[in-house]
Amino acid sequence: MDVRPSGLHHVTAIAGDPQRNVDFYLQVLGLRLVKRTVNFDAPDTYHLYYGDEAGTPGSILTFFPWPGAPRGRRGTGQTTTVGFSVPEGSLGWWADRLRAAGVESEEPVTRAGEDVLALYDPDGLRLELVASPSPDTRPPWESGPVPGDRAVRGLHAVTMSEGGPDPTAALLTDRLGFRLADEGDGRFRFAAGDGGPGALVDVVAQPAAPRGLVAAGTVHHVAWRAPDDPAQESWRSALVASGIDVTPILDRRYFHSIYFREPGGVLFEIATDNPGFATDEPVAELGTGLRLPPWLEPERARIEAALPELKIP
Ligand code: ZN
Repeated sequence: MDVRPSGLHHVTAIAGDPQRNVDFYLQVLGLRLVKRTVNFDAPDTYHLYYGDEAGTPGSILTFFPWPGAPRGRRGTGQTTTVGFSVPEGSLGWWADRLRAAGVESEEPVTRAGEDVLALYDPDGLRLELVASPSPDTRPPWESGPVPGDRAVRGLHAVTMSEGGPDPTAALLTDRLGFRLADEGDGRFRFAAGDGGPGALVDVVAQPAAPRGLVAAGTVHHVAWRAPDDPAQESWRSALVASGIDVTPILDRRYFHSIYFREPGGVLFEIATDNPGFATDEPVAELGTGLRLPPWLEPERARIEAALPELKIP
């Protein structure tokens, strides 16, 4: 079976202080905290998931907050920007909002027919709010501080920086079923599945840029969507058969995952849509309590005592 992810599942990045991270993504960007859990490999630290009301695949940005972590460096072999889709015509409103909140941002620009407002989260992670003329029909989370006619619809695209983009482009098109959708100014846009917001990756050629360093304010990995477990199993076999070093299937509680590096060095994951975030708490209560996987539940008291306090606004 050909490997054919339909778009982005989630992006995972590294933050410093967890409270500052929660305050920014909930109160400034207006996302929903859809899961409060721990890093399964380091359960004395949080893993925070933001998204739309249900944490739909394609809406999710997650963080490993490490208090006191040094800042990373944007560079090659790295996902350098995470783009969110917002409604056409909303960027002026967003620029005012960011200014009022004291958020570092850039003047909006038009790039490849889309209006783009770049900003930086409190750890220096580069984000973009992208208003595309191609309609994004995904419903927003409307119970946050951002009105529905301006709210984030989900992920739009990720931008990867590469010293030499050709091997990355070949992996995307020859192994993962992407197609080249646009190119110009050293930027190559690839689309997965039906394309459109949430199914895009921009590969930017930056041969003179330094190598990226993953730490606070940088992206750790990008996850692509697999519809179900059988697809993931057969995709894994196909990737292994083509010589790619792929991890075994790992249980991430809210999805099942495999990981591999693209030739430029960016860590890719393929994550299943199932079982989703309502597997251990109802949609109405997502993010309200600390959720632990069954294998960590016996250690809840010790884990809770070690975690910093987190106030959910
Ligand atoms: Zn992931």
